[in-house]
This record gives sequence, structure tokens and C-alpha cells, in this order.
Amino acid sequence: MIVGDLKPIEEIEASIRDCPRVLVLGCRGCVTVCNTGGEKEVSVLASQLRIASQARREQREVREETIERQCDFEYIEALLPQISDVDAVVSLACGAGVQHVAEVAAGLQRPIQVVPGVNTTFLGAALEQGVWGERCQGCGNCVLEITGGICPIARCSKSLLNGPCGGSSEGKCEIDPEVDCAWQLIYDRLSVLGKLENMTRVLPTRDWSTSRDGGPRTRVIEELRK
Ligand code: SF4
Ligand code: SF4
Repeated sequence: MIVGDLKPIEEIEASIRDCPRVLVLGCRGCVTVCNTGGEKEVSVLASQLRIASQARREQREVREETIERQCDFEYIEALLPQISDVDAVVSLACGAGVQHVAEVAAGLQRPIQVVPGVNTTFLGAALEQGVWGERCQGCGNCVLEITGGICPIARCSKSLLNGPCGGSSEGKCEIDPEVDCAWQLIYDRLSVLGKLENMTRVLPTRDWSTSRDGGPRTRVIEELRK
């Protein structure tokens, strides 16, 4: 899932200055699961914005909506009447959702600002209640079958693909002693799996064009296209 953090209220406030009608828009996808941009967070942020406006004696109307997914035009378009009736939308979705809402808003009759309320951080998984860890960097060419299901790109601080840097100590990363050394984890896992020979396998120089280095990526499934 995509993990994000709510932006500081001061930053959100600054981005909607001079906007008398504001819609705080949540998403029921990943940001709901990581408690950043669902219905509850929309309600809290909308209240904070109202209180801040009242404290400054500003006339501002703050509305609230939450849709199924902001990364899908279908759900955004169903909300067009509400979006076209405000001056700014504070999107609590990930960066992809914010951009999709902004694209829809750009097609409307008058300018409507769409601003992020969330700092999108990483692709992660829940480690325990209230804790998420980064697990994938969307490289487009997965090597988990070689590394025992532990990603060296996302979980090694240096994204090393061919074994450890040599700086780890007692299983911890030299960059941050709070973080497990990914290559120690990989070694331990391969050991359990009886596949330690994978440690000696040298991966060739990687073609990073499947990752972000090749520019923005698009995935097409022809049979799903109309
Ligand atoms: S190897 Fe690539 S696709 Fe696989 S988990 Fe790591 S970053 Fe994600
Ligand atoms: S100590 Fe381990 S996790 Fe940290 S940079 Fe070196 S190999 Fe990667």
C-alpha cells in the first residue's frame, strides 16, 4: 500500500490562502488504511481549518467529502458538482490521487486549486498496529525470487544488489543502527530456505529503465481497454 503523512496544518493553510470555499477531499484507499486521508482525517482537518479561519476572523466555508479512490477518474467525476463549487480542494490522497483530481479540476470552467494535504512517502506494509515499513520501490523488475522475498532495493540503505557493503554490525545497518541490515536478513532467510547459493549469484549491471530512471511509466492491459 501507499503510505503517507499528513502535512503540517500551517503548510496546508498557506496553500489555500485567499480561498473562501474549500473542499477537504479524502480517499478510501491506502490513505484510509494508514490513517492519513480517510473520512476521519478529513473531518479532523476540516475542523482545524474552520477553527483557524475563525481565529483570524476570516469568512471561509470548509466542506468535506471522501470518495472511493482519487486515482480513478470514475469516482472523481461523480463529485464534479461539489468540486466545481469551491475555490480549492485539499486532497488527502497520495500524490497520484492529487494529480488526478487536479487534472479533472483543470477541465472546469473556472480555476480551482487542488493542493496536497499529504506527503506521500513510500510503498509499504503494516508491521504492527500503527507502524508501516518501506518494502518496495516499484523498480519494475522484481528480484525477490533470488533474495528470499526481501527487497534489497527498498530495504538496504544503499540499495545494494550483490551482497552487503561490509559495514553492518550485529545484524544492523551501518547507516542506522535501528534498521536491520537487509543483506543480513536476506542471508538468514536464504539459509532457512536452503538457498544460500543465491548469495554467490552475481546479478549483472541492472537496467534501471524499468524503474523511474526510464521516465514516467504506463501500464496497459489491452483487453481492459474499451
Ligand atoms: S525488487 Fe523491485 S519490484 Fe521487487 S520489491 Fe524490490 S523494488 Fe519492489
Ligand atoms: S549495512 Fe546492510 S543494509 Fe546497511 S547499507 Fe550495508 S548492506 Fe545495506
